[in-house]
Amino acid sequence: MTTTIVWFRKDLRLHDHPALYEAASNGKVVSVFIWTPEDEKVYGGSEPSLWWLHHSLKEFEHRLNGLGIQLVIRKGDSLQILAELAQEIQADGVYFNERFEPEHRAKDEETVAMLRLLDLDVQIFRGNLLFNPYTLKNSKGDPFKVFTAYWKRSLEEFVPPPLPAPDLQGIESECSSMTVEALGFPSQRDWADCFQEIWNPGEQSAIGKWEDFMEEGLLYYGAERDLFAGESSAVSMLSPSIAAGDISVRSMWHSAKRVGDASVLPAVQNSTISFLRQLAWRDFAYYQLLWFPHFVDQPLLTYFTHFPWNGTVEQLERWEQGKTGYPLVDAGMRELKTTGVIHNRVRMVVASFLVKHLLIPWTEGSDWFRKSLIDYDMANNAMGWQWVAGTGIDAAPYFRIFNPTAQSEKFDPNGDYIRQWVPELADLPAPHIHKPWETPPALLREANVQLDLTYPRPIIDHKMARKRALQAYNELRKKD
Ligand SMILES: Cc1cc2nc3c(=O)[nH]c(=O)nc-3n(C[C@H](O)[C@H](O)[C@H](O)COP(=O)(O)OP(=O)(O)OC[C@H]3O[C@@H](n4cnc5c(N)ncnc54)[C@H](O)[C@@H]3O)c2cc1C
Repeated sequence: MTTTIVWFRKDLRLHDHPALYEAASNGKVVSVFIWTPEDEKVYGGSEPSLWWLHHSLKEFEHRLNGLGIQLVIRKGDSLQILAELAQEIQADGVYFNERFEPEHRAKDEETVAMLRLLDLDVQIFRGNLLFNPYTLKNSKGDPFKVFTAYWKRSLEEFVPPPLPAPDLQGIESECSSMTVEALGFPSQRDWADCFQEIWNPGEQSAIGKWEDFMEEGLLYYGAERDLFAGESSAVSMLSPSIAAGDISVRSMWHSAKRVGDASVLPAVQNSTISFLRQLAWRDFAYYQLLWFPHFVDQPLLTYFTHFPWNGTVEQLERWEQGKTGYPLVDAGMRELKTTGVIHNRVRMVVASFLVKHLLIPWTEGSDWFRKSLIDYDMANNAMGWQWVAGTGIDAAPYFRIFNPTAQSEKFDPNGDYIRQWVPELADLPAPHIHKPWETPPALLREANVQLDLTYPRPIIDHKMARKRALQAYNELRKKD
């Protein structure tokens, strides 16, 4: 009987974990989590994501312990720790799921080569993506640069069916291990009190949330996913669980597909397709990370390097704090601060506002998101920002400038989202809540709103900003 080390990374789960499944079917399993210098870069000091990781690790450890399996926790160089552990327990092999962040890829290559030199059976599995990013290519054999073509082609691909949680057999001896607490991730913070009320990290809660979503939100997803006000929104809110790997996207793919295939209602079929497409966008982000790893902080359309950014530090701070005078932008930025997430449509609006209205580099925005998002994901965040800024390979055209007022009027006509996150405007009736600066003074008085005192006037005029952005873009194109 063989003994295999399973190295857990952003995949703290028992279900559909190919490396764990394979190791368990060969014999005994030793589970290890290593906090490496590469992880420091990948998480980028995102305190909310580390808060999530702390609690997810605690839950995972608890579950493994319940099955009689120890979770060995260590900190340091992955190669050194895996080699030492293998020697300590006389392991036959090391199995893990592949990561695509450039930092991990570089280090993993070295780790695999050196461990193999030690005569260990080292196997890498693809457990965190739907499709094989190495083989998905266009007819010329090049990586896809347009999502629609990628999506069309990926529908011909085989998505491996999810694997069940395996029966696990551990080893008798106990290995030295750190506690989760000793890793020093933020677990108790002022802001975390609020997180605790909203979020429940870990595999079991992610699966429960997913099952609830399949009975409710998924059925309306196609028509309602763009609505962002509280109850009316039909999105899953599973991004932190997916980013941490608490839930498998492949199992989500298959179960969502089953819902669509079993329904005779075109609305439900469309909803599931629409949802699968969003999961494929995530795969496309990792695809870009693999083929264009510099896209994390450099524009993929290189001429944008010379874009005439000219926003100020004060404007950036007002955007970060949700004090721009545009209620939807402010609501989004304050939701981010309190909950660690923003609805996808509002992410697009606030990002577009920073880049196109204020002419502040998208990297400043992606950096703020990195620090603030509980679902921070290097690939998704970079793709989202490059898409909005128009600097990516498949991006919104630069002339698409989100009008923050029109967006809230369209997707939250009653202004409930603004009312929730910008309480100083809560008593303003719709439609005035979308643009307080155009509201008659009597109505403002009635709602206790004093412009410049209780709520700022717009930091910039929309029409002027739009014209300025288009001008800057056209000049850049002429130079190019
Ligand atoms: C500027 C910007 C930055 C972003 N940064 C991140 C990030 O750091 N981490 C992150 O997970 N997502 C990011 N996104 C994508 C998207 O906004 C979130 O995935 C989504 O809001 C999560 O909510 P949900 O789980 O309810 O999504 P649902 O609509 O329920 O979708 C299910 C899952 O599909 C994936 N998904 C959905 N939409 C997208 C998308 N547009 N791009 C890629 N994957 C998608 C996510 O994993 C999501 O959890 C960003 C988008 C923008 C515009």
